[in-house]
Amino acid sequence: MAGAFGFKGCQKIRGPQIRNLLEAKDFILLDCDGVLWHGEKAVTGAATVVNSMIRNGKNVVFVTNNCTRPREKYVHKFSRLGFTDVMLEQIFSSSYCSALYLRDVVKITGQVFVMGCEALRTELQEAGVPCVEEAEDPDATIYNCALAPDVKAVLVGHDDKMTFLKLAKASCYLRDPDCLFLATDIDPWHPLSGGRILPGSGSLTAALEVSSGRKATVIGKPSRFMFECISSQFKGVDPAKCLMIGDRLETDMLFGSNCRLDTMLTLTGVSQTKDAEEYRDSELTTNHSFVPDYIVDSIADFLPAFDEQEEQSN
Ligand SMILES: [Mg+2]
Repeated sequence: MAGAFGFKGCQKIRGPQIRNLLEAKDFILLDCDGVLWHGEKAVTGAATVVNSMIRNGKNVVFVTNNCTRPREKYVHKFSRLGFTDVMLEQIFSSSYCSALYLRDVVKITGQVFVMGCEALRTELQEAGVPCVEEAEDPDATIYNCALAPDVKAVLVGHDDKMTFLKLAKASCYLRDPDCLFLATDIDPWHPLSGGRILPGSGSLTAALEVSSGRKATVIGKPSRFMFECISSQFKGVDPAKCLMIGDRLETDMLFGSNCRLDTMLTLTGVSQTKDAEEYRDSELTTNHSFVPDYIVDSIADFLPAFDEQEEQSN
């Protein structure tokens, strides 16, 4: 989809162009990791930009595939890192949206087997979605363990306590064709400092897809469902008036394209300009969905736009 202020494809924008773009948008969708912060360190200027967006009347929402903390903990993190005006209702994490999907779309009647972290279970429980309680038994194996009789969905997310037994149980539950197979997201990996990486939910989903011979329904980006959650909770969400800002082409930009939003890549995270240009120049038209409309070095590039707005209003 062509951007309102330029042609589709990696347009590097700054200063007045950013201000014009911002004026044309009512909703700003922001990814978190790699855009606003790296771990516990905020991207320089990010908090000022987000606070200014909110104070200038923009609807700012956060769309994150990171399912490792419940929304309340996100609010604490935002506050801790200087994002002082962020409310719970603005946060759309893949764990929260998974809970909404199970409760409101599927209207699940039985239990959910979670292959994921504690935060994911917390979100489900807060939404009233029952999860299988796992007993700690070091001697349990797939040959002798109990399986719950009423599991109607398997949900995979980030799981740093992943075991072979959990994978085996999940595979057994998925033998039932009426048992749903969901993934919070399919991010392959996440960057850590020092060149190390953390395998993402996508790597665990792939393992379970192979063992079950089934394909997971993906809740998080690049699936459209998160945008449907936003549209159902805010009035007047018009895709033409939304801007999706993220750092990863295969999730954030594709999500924006899937939802027909203008997209912006920041270069403070995973993807770089050359990656975007490779997709843009590809002969495969499906690759064009990964191409951002706009590129900025950092979310901090929005700062001058607010200086000018504030000067004009004085
Ligand atoms: Mg990111």
